Amino acid sequence: MDLYSGHINKLIDELAGLPGIGTKSAQRLAFHLINMPKERVDRLAKIIIEAKENVRYCAGCFTLTDQELCPVCANEKRDHGTIMVVENTRDLAAYEKTGKYAGVYHVLHGAISPMLGIGPNDIRLKELMHRLEGEIAEVIIATNSSLEGETTAMYIAKLIKPTGIKVTRIASGVPVGGDLEYIDEVTLLRALEGRTEL
Ligand code: ZN
Repeated sequence: MDLYSGHINKLIDELAGLPGIGTKSAQRLAFHLINMPKERVDRLAKIIIEAKENVRYCAGCFTLTDQELCPVCANEKRDHGTIMVVENTRDLAAYEKTGKYAGVYHVLHGAISPMLGIGPNDIRLKELMHRLEGEIAEVIIATNSSLEGETTAMYIAKLIKPTGIKVTRIASGVPVGGDLEYIDEVTLLRALEGRTEL
């Protein structure tokens, strides 16, 4: 049933393929975009393309950045001997917002999930192990407290243990299944300060 023009249908389909956007939202967005002034649509399209072309993985921690090294990795005042392992760049941003963490990060870009067929080789684990060949005093595992996050934490802890490097896990004051990015700064700090050795 072709109620709208083919172009609008195509736009709705594309938008509906984005995370968190259902068909209804996709329709609303599509009509909103069509009604926007042409200059604003041009600008939006250009910003999307520029972001895609210019954003890359930090050579140090693999977060998304515009530079070879992200601002945290490039900062010599940070403690490069302490690495906090997070699932994604949004989690890194959440911890950075507290302004209280002085170490550096490692961004996995996902978590191990046997159910979704995501294994250790599908996230940036090899890169983490490679970093541990340097002078590292502590690895803080700050993956989410979801089943996937816990599985990943246990897996990483088992890998690191034989190296003798201290491995800690943030306290689970963080609600189960809660995404780190939605948790307030006080809770994040408490989770960090209450971390325990694995
Ligand atoms: Zn970095």
